[in-house]
Amino acid sequence: GTSTPVLRVRGLVAGYDRIEALHGVDVEVHQGEAVTLIGSNGAGKTTLLRTIAGLMRPWRGTVEFLGEDVSRWPAERRARAGLALVPEGRRVFAGLTVEENLRLGGYPHPRSLAADGLATVYELFPKLRDRRTQAAGTMSGGEQQMLAIGRAMMSRPKLLLLDEPSLGLAPLAVREVADALVELAGRDTTLALVEQNATVAFHVARRGYLLDRGTLVTAGSVAELREDPRVHEAYLGQP
Ligand code: ATP
Repeated sequence: GTSTPVLRVRGLVAGYDRIEALHGVDVEVHQGEAVTLIGSNGAGKTTLLRTIAGLMRPWRGTVEFLGEDVSRWPAERRARAGLALVPEGRRVFAGLTVEENLRLGGYPHPRSLAADGLATVYELFPKLRDRRTQAAGTMSGGEQQMLAIGRAMMSRPKLLLLDEPSLGLAPLAVREVADALVELAGRDTTLALVEQNATVAFHVARRGYLLDRGTLVTAGSVAELREDPRVHEAYLGQP
């Protein structure tokens, strides 16, 4: 539509020391959309998410969030404005309980809102409610990933960024995480998903972008991407 996108990345250039990892990337995500960012190892997907979240500063280009240029905002301020990142590797606090982990995710909000958040997350992931007093570190990989996503949802993000949520999970857990993301997307959560697992990416998202070595190769609907040989190349050797 013509409404202001939730996220608009324009001409984004970013990197590490003198190594440029993104060479001018444009991405848009609209309200209620589930978008996937795909590409082979080293394509720059993680760098893109980190730059959007404010963990890295762009060298050039802009990140606009809800119509505001947030390129110079620190990550904390972006988080408070509604930008949540679930980083690769499910970094939950192993020694804290499930509920303690969730409450930490709700920290920018007053207590009453945190309670609402808990109710919503438990409704979404009933398994987390069952295990609310369990130490997070004793849960399975899939459960910890649910927790990491649930924690991000506690802050009621206006945009949820997910970096490889299925990475390293057993097939059944991959399925569970994918189903949870489909459920989230169906509830009008705006999300951008980085995935090496094409099945998950195309199950969750309706639209996607293909990155290759720091450059945007193509963008399109999932149906279009499925047919694109360049996408198959990016997922070479994968289901
Ligand atoms: P993967 O699926 O392997 O995580 P990716 O698409 O997420 O890949 P990035 O991790 O964003 O890719 O990496 C993009 C480029 O930046 C790569 O060439 C990578 O080697 C480089 N890079 C990533 N992190 C660093 C770092 N901390 N220091 C230097 N170079 C880095």
